[in-house]
Amino acid sequence: MTDSIKSHRTDILIVGLGPVGAALACILGQYNISTVVVEKDSDIFQQPRAIALDNEALRILQMIGLEDNELKKVIIPEVQMHCPYSGNFGRANAFGSTDGHPNLITFYQPDLETTLRDKLKHFKSVKVMLNTTLESFDQSDLHVSASLTNSDSSSLHITCKYLIGADGAKSFVRKCAGLDFSGKTHKERWLIVDAFATNNNFRHVEFLCDPHRPVAHLAAPKGRQRWEFMLHPHEKESEMMKDQSISTLLRPWGDADKFKIERKAVYHFHSRVADAFSSGRVFLVGDAAHVTPPFVGQGLVSGLRDVANLGWKLAWVCSGKLPNQTLNSYSVERQPHVKAMISLARLMGRIVMPKNKSSSILIHGLVRIIRLIPVLKKQIDELEIKPSNRIKNGLFVKSSKRNPLCGGHQIAQGYVKLQNGEISLSDCVFDYKFSLIGFDIDPSIYLQEHERKILSTYDVNFYCIRPLGYQALDCEQLPTNSGIDIEDITGSLLNQHNRNRIALIRPDGFIIDSTTSKGLGRLVERFETLLNTINTYQWNVHSDDT
Ligand SMILES: Cc1cc2nc3c(=O)[nH]c(=O)nc-3n(C[C@H](O)[C@H](O)[C@H](O)COP(=O)(O)OP(=O)(O)OC[C@H]3O[C@@H](n4cnc5c(N)ncnc54)[C@H](O)[C@@H]3O)c2cc1C
Repeated sequence: MTDSIKSHRTDILIVGLGPVGAALACILGQYNISTVVVEKDSDIFQQPRAIALDNEALRILQMIGLEDNELKKVIIPEVQMHCPYSGNFGRANAFGSTDGHPNLITFYQPDLETTLRDKLKHFKSVKVMLNTTLESFDQSDLHVSASLTNSDSSSLHITCKYLIGADGAKSFVRKCAGLDFSGKTHKERWLIVDAFATNNNFRHVEFLCDPHRPVAHLAAPKGRQRWEFMLHPHEKESEMMKDQSISTLLRPWGDADKFKIERKAVYHFHSRVADAFSSGRVFLVGDAAHVTPPFVGQGLVSGLRDVANLGWKLAWVCSGKLPNQTLNSYSVERQPHVKAMISLARLMGRIVMPKNKSSSILIHGLVRIIRLIPVLKKQIDELEIKPSNRIKNGLFVKSSKRNPLCGGHQIAQGYVKLQNGEISLSDCVFDYKFSLIGFDIDPSIYLQEHERKILSTYDVNFYCIRPLGYQALDCEQLPTNSGIDIEDITGSLLNQHNRNRIALIRPDGFIIDSTTSKGLGRLVERFETLLNTINTYQWNVHSDDT
């Protein structure tokens, strides 16, 4: 045991090395920002938790540098809803992919966390300290000072520019920052079981919305299956956790005595959101900022959206390229979307857990009726009911919703061919930096010298998306191009509506503003106004572009 006190200085201190803290550390490592991550435990948390991720989460994991083959996954083609009284009353089609990734997959959370921790070893700017607990912190206008202890009881002081609470639902950082965690803890308890089953041809997700025993059942990688059983108030946790009780619950799915139970846990679910995701120089991400019932598999996904939003802002602010008020846009941009996702999860909870036979007949009958109306059927069957990842207020220029490249929307992603013949996903080409992208038009030739200078302050790169086959044209006939031409080989980016427009994109892929070649000078002016008004906390720059 030692009582020596060590001191460190860093730009960013992340408290908590769960999946969200690890993901943020990877992003900061990629931008070479000096970062310390502290984690009170020595090992990855092994209880059954996240199992499903959507295409948006996979796109963020791509940003983090996760290769497709680095995470074992099962691609889920559909989600089925059954009930003893209404039969198969609902079905959502998850088949196919969006923005280069499958719409829905299942995975094994400890595998993901191991992969992220391995990635962190390669970043020189990131230091991970396990067995290290945050005990207290103080913030001033200039920095945050944190006091920590190691498992050998030695003390540690870390001074940082920004402290990030990625310390889970019971967040100590949130409490110390004085941020309330409004919402509710749901009274129902759920028994979660991961098991290796013998019925290996199960490939999808099903919800058995039986008031007597609501169950969620999911196929998972490496022969695993996940069951989530709602427990009744009279059922004792200690009894229900016994393998024998679990085998009884699993019997409808085969010879349950032969199933190998891997993990089990009982949870209450919560719907809670921090009143703000930041306070001064302290920021919350992941479960520290919000918790949701898992019925639409969005807890971790929301945490990943947090770090995709906050990561680049921290990087640009720490390198002095943007003022620290930029970070005020984080809470403004993320909180409404998180709340919308929780509302959807609660709605789904009502469908999955009808109180009794009558409410089951009523609720599931209503779903059946809704699915008779084509526009509403599409909302459910094609998962269009899921809130789209659009920013309503924040660091972008507001424009008409008819604008095909509307500020606050995320740019689509697809496979593109580079001039050297290499094929890549487009986000990787844009390299998670500011980009000025012309859609079948070279933006760079329309810029005046002073406008170029302004854009170069923020490291804006220029690109030109061309239709498939453009490079096959006779090179002599092609206009000279000072940006980078890329061919849209999957037709995901370029279309008849956005052709000849130019869009300014943030490092996280969200559109700041767009215009035609004639309006490019005004776009650069609006970008400057937007960044200058960050100090006034207003997110209200409007486009005059038609
Ligand atoms: C049953 C269940 C099913 C779920 N299913 C899904 C799903 O299908 N899809 C989905 O997207 N999400 C799902 N979730 C949610 C998902 O698991 C969580 O959102 C996610 O794990 C949260 O990650 P995190 O990094 O924010 O927090 P955590 O994983 O809780 O990590 C926080 C870390 O901070 C550390 N820490 C805490 N305090 C301190 C301190 N003072 N000092 C240092 N370290 C500290 C902790 O030890 C911990 O390692 C599910 C959750 C449950 C319970």
